[in-house]
Amino acid sequence: MTHAHPATDAADAAPRRTTKQREAVREALASSEEFVSAQALHQSMRQSGSTVGLATVYRALAALAEDGEADALQSGGEALYRACTPSHHHHLICRRCGRTVELEAAAVERWAGQVAAAHGFVEPEHVVDIFGLCAECAAAR
Ligand SMILES: [Zn+2]
Ligand SMILES: [Zn+2]
Ligand SMILES: [Zn+2]
Repeated sequence: MTHAHPATDAADAAPRRTTKQREAVREALASSEEFVSAQALHQSMRQSGSTVGLATVYRALAALAEDGEADALQSGGEALYRACTPSHHHHLICRRCGRTVELEAAAVERWAGQVAAAHGFVEPEHVVDIFGLCAECAAAR
């Protein structure tokens, strides 16, 4: 990641608040249909009255992604997050507004398994996301 390192805020020093804050971040993320950056999520949380610090949002998002409770992807050198369905899926993402469609792609699953097997690889995993402009953003150009 290339973003500036967020300043540590004093509220983070209180461990008792961490779980509560992470819960607040989880809820805020769940209310977003789009992939969002930590900064964008922090801003919207602030606007709805939260006092959570940016550093906390960064950490909570990273923890949620690590625990499989959120999907993370890199876009333009920035980490973006979304609360997704827990099962394996792919994304169609608008690179302008972040609108996201979750996709199942049986053809991709088959192809990935076959290619891995053909090369003698086992336990293949893959990440396939499609970026483009959604119909609205394309129309607004
Ligand atoms: Zn997802
Ligand atoms: Zn769009
Ligand atoms: Zn897949």
